[in-house]
Parts: sequence; structure tokens; C-alpha cells
Amino acid sequence: MAEIKIPGELLPKDGRFGCGPSRTRVEQLSNFLGQGASLLGTSHRQAPVKNLVGEIRQGLLDLFRAPQGYEVVLGNGGSTAFWDAAAFSMVEKKAQALVHGEFGSKFASALTNPWLEKPVVVNAPAGSRGEFEPSADIDSYVYPHNETSTGVVTAVKRAASSGLMFTDATSAAGGIDFELSETDVYYFAPQKNFASDGGLWLALLSPAAIERVESIAASDRYIPEFLSVKTALDNSRLNQTLNTPAIATLFLLNDQIQWINKNGGLKWADARTKQSSNLLYQWAERTESAYAFVANPDHRSQVVVTIDFDESVDASYITSTLRANGVVDVEPYRKLGRNQIRVATFVATEPAEVERLIASIDYILEQR
Ligand SMILES: *Cc1c(COP(=O)(O)O)cnc(C)c1O
Repeated sequence: MAEIKIPGELLPKDGRFGCGPSRTRVEQLSNFLGQGASLLGTSHRQAPVKNLVGEIRQGLLDLFRAPQGYEVVLGNGGSTAFWDAAAFSMVEKKAQALVHGEFGSKFASALTNPWLEKPVVVNAPAGSRGEFEPSADIDSYVYPHNETSTGVVTAVKRAASSGLMFTDATSAAGGIDFELSETDVYYFAPQKNFASDGGLWLALLSPAAIERVESIAASDRYIPEFLSVKTALDNSRLNQTLNTPAIATLFLLNDQIQWINKNGGLKWADARTKQSSNLLYQWAERTESAYAFVANPDHRSQVVVTIDFDESVDASYITSTLRANGVVDVEPYRKLGRNQIRVATFVATEPAEVERLIASIDYILEQR
């Protein structure tokens, strides 16, 4: 088959639609080359970088309209490191985990360890999700806000009257509105809606979560220093991290937080990702060969859209043709193995860009 060349006027202006690392805005990079340039290569223990960390911490409290007593903690290693940090530093004895995809399952594995009781796992098939089954012996309820591997969203809501709620918001944070009082640990990494680079984790902790951190740190449990949330908390209060952070990551993250806040905060971001994702869901509805992978409309994500194709279309032909035309990373999650495309509709992406992506896919469908 001859390679299809998508006409330039149909193509998105920026070809990045992946779920992370994801599209950065041009202004973030130009600001980095401006103000950011003098920060790079300077000490993270001195005022300029510490002030940057301070701005990030305050910016996130503002963005998430944090109730009194919530604090922003950060450390190195990304969300994956935070799973181990939480397992060492925050889960007391027994957790319950919603698992309906790759990321939920990885946290459940981190909780399956020699010092905790075996977690209760509520499994659901990919493309759907389960519900918590509250029980008095559970001290921690864990779930992904947005399961990035499948495009399934879960409402941020307390599951029980006791126990800490842990929300993996890696791909949701900054793109979906919610009430922070409904969770105790809202954690994420900056390479998704925050349009920055990887390697860092950030968590908003409630007063109850901070109390848990303090009490486990004071117990006789062994906690490696790199995975100690208490150490991260103490450092964060000084606008520092335990070890050297990537300064470019911090700068791009801060730029994105301030940009969202200036534009109207989380409500604005939420409306924008909804508009972008609706364009794709509506397109799937009117396209004969395409349909939303997530059957229940209430479970469909507004930041990660998964669209299946019937046997008349080879999705890998679409993704490879797009890639040859400079539109990248709409392949489905590698382990899901479906005839699917997966599109991030993070806040950095203008809805008009999603319209161009749709026009490009329609062109491929017509020309193939
Ligand atoms: C991307 C992602 C992760 C992994 O983040 P890292 O920073 O690469 O460790 C974890 N959870 C969810 C929901 C994600 O989307």
C-alpha cells in the first residue's frame, strides 16, 4: 500500500497526542529559554530554585482549592517511586485497591509485600471499573483517578468513614475538576496534564495523611530514606527535595500550573479537556467503524480517550500512517493489545488540535 500523505491544512500544528511524556506548550519552552536559563546549572539548595519549588507548592494549593491543613510534598522518582514510598511510609496494615488496568495493578503489587497484610483487590475488566467494598479492617483505599492504560475515570469520593483515600492522579491532575476534601493523598507526576518532563512525584496530603506519615515514621518499621514520605515532607517544607531534582522539570511544571491558574484554574482546565474529549467521542459515534472502548459513558475519561475499531479497520495502519505524517503516540497502551487508538486530551492541547487530528484520521479512512 502506498503511504498516505495527509494534506498540511488537515494536520495538527503539533503532532504530539501521547499520554506521557506529552505535548508541552511552545510558551513553556520559550519561557524556559528566557527566565529559566539562569536557573539551570545552579544549586537547588539556594533561593532561586527553592523559590521555584515554593511557587509550585503554592500554585498547586491554589489550583486544587486546598482545604486548610493540606500540604504539597514532592520527591524524586515519579509516581512509580511514590507507590513504594506509600507502601513503606503510609499504609498501616491493610489496603483495598481498585484494579482495572496497568497502573492500578502496579500499585496493588507494591502493596503486596512482607510488612503489610495482603491487599484486598477489587478487579474489573479493562474498559470498566469496580467499586470499593468498605470494611473496618482497611486503613487505606487506593485507586487511579484516571486509569491511563484504558481511559477509565473514577470519581474522587470517600469510600468509607475511616481509612485514608489514595488517588493516583498522574494523568488526571490538572485536567479534571474534583473536591480535594474527598481524598487524603492526591499524587501525580508532571509529564501529563502538567506538560513537563518525568522523574518527579508530587502529592497533596491531608492532615490525616500527614498524621499517618508521622506515626509510621515514629514506629519501628524499616523505611529506606529515598522512600520515606516523612523525609520528603520535611524537605518539602523547606522547598527542597532529598536529592537533586531536574530543574527543567520543575520550571516547566511551574509554568504550566501558573498558566492554568491564570486562565481560570481547574474549572477552566476541566471544561477544555471535556470539550476536546467530547469531539473524539462524538466522532466515534458518527463513524461506522469506530466506537468508544469504555462502554459506560460515566466511566469515559475526559483526558485519555480510547477508541476501538471494528475488523474493517486496522488501527495500527492508522497509527503508523499518522506517525509517518508527524502525528505521534496515539497507539493503544502496549499491553492492552486492542485494535484501538488512544489519544491524550490533556489541557495543553487546544480543542482545535483535536479537530485537526480527527480530520487527519478521516482522511486516512477515506484514502486507504
Ligand atoms: C503515567 C502514570 C503512572 C506512572 O508515572 P511515572 O512517573 O512514569 O512513574 C502512574 N499512574 C498513572 C495513572 C499514570 O498515568
